[in-house]
Amino acid sequence: SVDFSEEKRETEGKKTMAGLAHQLTGREDPGSPKRLFPILKPSTTLSSLPACFHSSPSGFRSRNRKMKIIPVACLEDNYAYLIVDESTKAAAAVDPVEPEKVLAAASEVGAYIDCVLTTHHHWDHAGGNEKMRLLVPGIKVYGGSMDNVKGCTDQVENGTKLSIGKEIDILCLHTPCHTKGHISYYVTSKEEEDPAVFTGDTLFIAGCGRFFEGTAEQMYQSLCVTLGSLPKSTRVYCGHEYTVKSLQFMLTVEPENEKMKQKLEWAQKQREANQPTVPSTIGDELEINTFMRVDLPEIQAKFGAKSAVEALRTVRNIKDTWKG
Ligand SMILES: [Zn+2]
Repeated sequence: SVDFSEEKRETEGKKTMAGLAHQLTGREDPGSPKRLFPILKPSTTLSSLPACFHSSPSGFRSRNRKMKIIPVACLEDNYAYLIVDESTKAAAAVDPVEPEKVLAAASEVGAYIDCVLTTHHHWDHAGGNEKMRLLVPGIKVYGGSMDNVKGCTDQVENGTKLSIGKEIDILCLHTPCHTKGHISYYVTSKEEEDPAVFTGDTLFIAGCGRFFEGTAEQMYQSLCVTLGSLPKSTRVYCGHEYTVKSLQFMLTVEPENEKMKQKLEWAQKQREANQPTVPSTIGDELEINTFMRVDLPEIQAKFGAKSAVEALRTVRNIKDTWKG
């Protein structure tokens, strides 16, 4: 009964980058100062099991893709990533906090890194940027204009478009709250296929980052509006391997959520086999991540909240003091 097929993901992926960019630039409209994307209600159906529950993330590479995404485990539980344009072997490195590891991973697949995409200014994400510049002369280091990123050569804003090699487009999405200038990078092929988003410490699998430099309103906008409006097939690559712990917490607030239980079992097996739990998908997160489900009346009711933002703030507060 698995209908989370490649074809389905393909079709859902057709919510075009051009369309998203258009909505991003619709900001001047005085009638809608904040909503960059329409709010989409999270799906509540429990009918289909996402493919990720049944197969390893390598299953995502089964088709002939123009883009290869390689997670590189760094420090204790961080992920850096390589995004490789297969036609030219040009690559972007996301948060390469341990430059030697990331460069080694690139040379293993014959790729060369010509830019760095920094999600935010925290040391465990931006801390390798200056060394990358020494090791790769001329490399471009992108970072959010409001985030004072170490080693940044080129600042980006909400809606900035970049590319990798010949085949890969990048759209920068401002997703503030964990830090003021946090950027998530939405990546597709030129044909707007194979969408993926690199969410740093804004969206984790079944979790979200702490509200260090922002409000619940901002996190709602970042998680539920900006990221929540991406195609459901969009693969989610986050900044930390927190999945098992996050799901254990989620099950304390939504103990009846069967998909959460199944995802936890799957994630525990992955970790026992020393495998990553990335990627998730936006579609999965809308079903297993309570922080992205706060638009649902039943979730608001659970916390006696009168709005989605209030529910989000409440769940975050509970998590901040959860001892696990
Ligand atoms: Zn952080």
